[in-house]
Amino acid sequence: MGNKFVQFILALLFPSFCVGCDTEGSVLCAACRNAIVVQRVPTRPAGRSSLSMLYAATEYREQKIASLLIGALKYHGVKRAADHCADILITHLCLAQFAPQKNYLVTAVPLHRKRLRERGFNQSELIAKHIAAQYALPYAPRILARTIHTTPQTEVRERAKRLENVKGAFVCYNAQTVRGKYIILIDDVTTTGATFEACAHALKSAGAKKIIACAVAK
Ligand SMILES: [Zn+2]
Repeated sequence: MGNKFVQFILALLFPSFCVGCDTEGSVLCAACRNAIVVQRVPTRPAGRSSLSMLYAATEYREQKIASLLIGALKYHGVKRAADHCADILITHLCLAQFAPQKNYLVTAVPLHRKRLRERGFNQSELIAKHIAAQYALPYAPRILARTIHTTPQTEVRERAKRLENVKGAFVCYNAQTVRGKYIILIDDVTTTGATFEACAHALKSAGAKKIIACAVAK
């Protein structure tokens, strides 16, 4: 039995409905996908940054359908939404003329093991795997760990407080993998970039050369 057949049966048993218009068939229909405005240029990392570049594909607040898509993945366990999130990010990376080289590798912002247990999966990891496959780059699972169970960043208002909230919250467990590498770091949503900065700091301390941060939305 082929994988396609299994997927066909699963789609029959558990049909998808579009997050934007509720049409049956897909988590995101073509019309709603086309309605999402994708940025054409990278975002400048704010202030003094450990990031070489920050790519954020779309606007979380303005792009209602994109936020519904991310919410479906993150809070309602709709794993199929990860393909669509990755597609939006890839569209942005193409428009922004991002061209990874051979010494690049892809990884995801980790969840604390407590949150991972609650959610059952790391949404950023699912997106990151698609990105790695798209660019035929190695995907490095779990080279970072979140050691402190922080307050969700969305609940912390100011940038200074957000930076403080995640500072030192990450460690790199695998210096051998990251040494001298360009790391494409994936997250679903970035607000102030504080989480990216904290991850980048840990990766750079472990010997990574450059960190390119990519989020589906900001
Ligand atoms: Zn739709």
